[in-house]
Amino acid sequence: MIIKKETEQIISYLEDTSNLKFGRADVVYIPKNESEVLEAIKEAKKNKIPVTASGAGTGTTGGRIPQGGAVISLEKMNGIISIDKNNFKATLQAGVIVDDFLKELEKEELFYPPFPTERTAFIGSNVATNASGEYSYRFGATRKYVERIRVALSMENILDIKRGQYIADGQGIITTPFFKVKIPKYTSPQIKNAAGYFSRPGMDLIDLFIGSEGTLGIITEVELKLILALPKRLIMILFLQKDENTLDILGKIQSNKRLNVYSLEYFEKNSLGILKKLFPNIPECESALYIEQETKDLDQWLKVLEEYSLADTWIGENERDYNKLIDFRHKLPELINEYFRQIKQIKVSLDLAVPENYFPEFFAFYREMAKKTEVEYVIFGHIGENHLHFNFFPKNDEERKRSQSAYIEAVKKAVQAGGTVSAEHGIGKLKHKYLEMMYGKAGITEMVRIKKTIDPFCIFGLNNIFPKELLY
Ligand SMILES: Cc1cc2nc3c(=O)[nH]c(=O)nc-3n(C[C@H](O)[C@H](O)[C@H](O)COP(=O)(O)OP(=O)(O)OC[C@H]3O[C@@H](n4cnc5c(N)ncnc54)[C@H](O)[C@@H]3O)c2cc1C
Repeated sequence: MIIKKETEQIISYLEDTSNLKFGRADVVYIPKNESEVLEAIKEAKKNKIPVTASGAGTGTTGGRIPQGGAVISLEKMNGIISIDKNNFKATLQAGVIVDDFLKELEKEELFYPPFPTERTAFIGSNVATNASGEYSYRFGATRKYVERIRVALSMENILDIKRGQYIADGQGIITTPFFKVKIPKYTSPQIKNAAGYFSRPGMDLIDLFIGSEGTLGIITEVELKLILALPKRLIMILFLQKDENTLDILGKIQSNKRLNVYSLEYFEKNSLGILKKLFPNIPECESALYIEQETKDLDQWLKVLEEYSLADTWIGENERDYNKLIDFRHKLPELINEYFRQIKQIKVSLDLAVPENYFPEFFAFYREMAKKTEVEYVIFGHIGENHLHFNFFPKNDEERKRSQSAYIEAVKKAVQAGGTVSAEHGIGKLKHKYLEMMYGKAGITEMVRIKKTIDPFCIFGLNNIFPKELLY
């Protein structure tokens, strides 16, 4: 096992895309296999130091940033163990890079439906964060495709969890060879969600680990469900002259099943302004809808769109244009992250989602909030899943304060409507107080109880999901 201790060797493990600056660690372990993961855990326990699991560091909430102790990096556990074409399954070590996996699948004419947006991330971290992707509108997030995981526990053993193997009984208790755990009393919302431990009556243990942000153990291996390679798709970007038409158009697209849509994304005016740096021919307009779809039945589209005034429509059908428009979608979060890195600020970034019937009200609230707060902002994202990213760009303390109070206001509204405080980026070390607004003190106490049962030595992912002080 590689062990790094020198400052310059470990500095890159002390950050992710959140720009949080408190990272520090005594040692970084880079195991090649499960026994070495267990060895690293044993060593950390002996030295009485906590352990933070580390993937590629593309997380946005400081989840992999250690606040002292040891890091276990999965980077050398990057083997694709098998791709079983007949049974549509793949088994991978946790450190496989998403892009490498997708390329292998392409050769076999197979596809991994969560299609995580950030392709440099590791597949094990995708499971640890329940990552979503470009087609989650159609296929859902990572959770649905995880069939089995292997996890190194703080008791220094490996728990192999196959979906269906460990299910909560009538009393809500799940029994494994290493621990017995009672599932939380709260129920997770039935919407896109990556906030806190998952909980549903009669739930499967595997779902407790998916999205647990490195707090329960180190995922060493995963088995994932696959489907056949997708048919050819085209991308269409509709530039709307009137933003007020957005929800109308959206409703028509969603109710017309013949349109066969894979992704449905929204860009308001300011986000288009940022993208203009790379796409100078973006027309004068109020917003845009980005749609990836299978059908070439343009008549259907004409029917949907005929009554609306569009400033322009871009279509990416051949490989070159398709890839150019993929870039249109990808580049915005990258440009925003880059901007924050340059100004050395932490984003004030909302990742809220609400139930579908409440979305129109929430969408109107976002626009009001933008006007009222008077801080530079962009809104973009997964409108088909009732989930938009609202990013404030505060320039000084006063603006930061105003953005933070607007954030609280928005969280209150989303939570009252049965929404989530994080649809995809997780809680990490940044969003504890919002999670408490979602589940209340009682919900957080339930999460602490779960953590103490499964990780009785309380060494993993400290300060992720809730403050570590609650453990003692
Ligand atoms: C430009 C950009 C776009 C993004 N778009 C999306 C998006 O659309 N949807 C989305 O969901 N996310 C998105 N993300 C966030 C990020 O890519 C995901 O959260 C991803 O799953 C993180 O993977 P990583 O390997 O970088 O993990 P890291 O950042 O290294 O770690 C993330 C968390 O997982 C834990 N962890 C890592 N490996 C393990 C393991 N083996 N066992 C247990 N815990 C582990 C870490 O401790 C940490 O808490 C985006 C990020 C960027 C930079």
